[in-house]
Amino acid sequence: MSAVVERLSRGKPVNTGNPFLEVSVINMGATLVLRWLGESAVQVPAQVLRVNCQCETCRANKGDYPYHSNPTTIADIRAFGLIGLRIRFSDGHDAATYCWTSLGALSV
Ligand SMILES: [Zn+2]
Repeated sequence: MSAVVERLSRGKPVNTGNPFLEVSVINMGATLVLRWLGESAVQVPAQVLRVNCQCETCRANKGDYPYHSNPTTIADIRAFGLIGLRIRFSDGHDAATYCWTSLGALSV
């Protein structure tokens, strides 16, 4: 688990570059939490993010992503400009960027 995620796991939000948005990770990397200023938080499971990865490789193999008995968690996240997040998963995959709109659409 990276220093960033450790810090996030203690409830410290990452710097998103957007003063109106806080991002944190809970449940030992299993859940991403987004909170826009003045709104209630939404959660996105790491497994949902991983399955919906929009990188070229994952889109080419759509539907082939295996569900492991040991679920994928978030190993690291960092701001991707002002438009979203780059996420590295526990399986080592880090090719995906997620814009804020798609993260909101994947929330539960
Ligand atoms: Zn991918």
